[in-house]
Amino acid sequence: MNAPADFCVCSECFRDEGLRLDAQRIGIEDTAFCSNCGASIGRKLDADRLATLAHRFFVWGSLLRCDFGAAPLIQFNQHQKTSITVPSWLEADMRLVEQTLGVGFFHYGPRLWMGSPQKTENKAR
Ligand SMILES: [Zn+2]
Repeated sequence: MNAPADFCVCSECFRDEGLRLDAQRIGIEDTAFCSNCGASIGRKLDADRLATLAHRFFVWGSLLRCDFGAAPLIQFNQHQKTSITVPSWLEADMRLVEQTLGVGFFHYGPRLWMGSPQKTENKAR
C-alpha cells in the first residue's frame, strides 16, 4: 500500500504537552515536512488521527469535570461553531484542530437537555 500521505498536522504543531504526547502516540513516523508547522521530526497525523486525538483530549478529557456520571461535557462536530472557552494555553491548539478539521467545539450536557421543548399535558378544558 503506497497511498499518498495526507497528513495535515504533526505532534510538533501542538503547544500543550498532553496533546503533543498523545499526538506522538497516535501519529505516524514520517520524515516529510509538516504542512502546518514545517517540522520534520514530529509524528504525522491525518484528519482521521487528528479527530481521534481531539476526541480523546477534549471529549474524554472533559469527563474529569463531569458531575453527572459518564456523559462527556464537550463535543465537536462539523455543524457547530466553537462556543466554549478554553484556557489561553490551549487556545491555539483548539483553533488548529478547529480549522484543520472544520469543526466547532461546544458544551454538551444536561443543561442543553433542559432547554429542549417538552410536551406537557394541556389540562385546560
Ligand atoms: Zn506540524
